[in-house]
Amino acid sequence: MTTSPKVPGPNPGGHVADQPHLPMRPLWGCGTCRAEWPCQSARAALLIEYRANLVALRVYLSALMAEADAQLSQVSRASDLYRRFLSWVG
Ligand SMILES: [Zn+2]
Repeated sequence: MTTSPKVPGPNPGGHVADQPHLPMRPLWGCGTCRAEWPCQSARAALLIEYRANLVALRVYLSALMAEADAQLSQVSRASDLYRRFLSWVG
């Protein structure tokens, strides 16, 4: 397994769901179902979209986690973001 980092690009139009479950900044709730992002639907869509490259998914989520950490720390105590953003990736 290669571990060379790749910068994942956004993939507009590549979402399989009718309604993409996207994060609403700066509170990082799902804009569609209001759960904490990434919600179950977002996770399922991401796993499908990145099924051939989970390394890229981890890089992508790591970047989002850092952004969420910076923004959430201004409004509340951000805790357990690793579990929320990354632990569920296979
Ligand atoms: Zn959602």
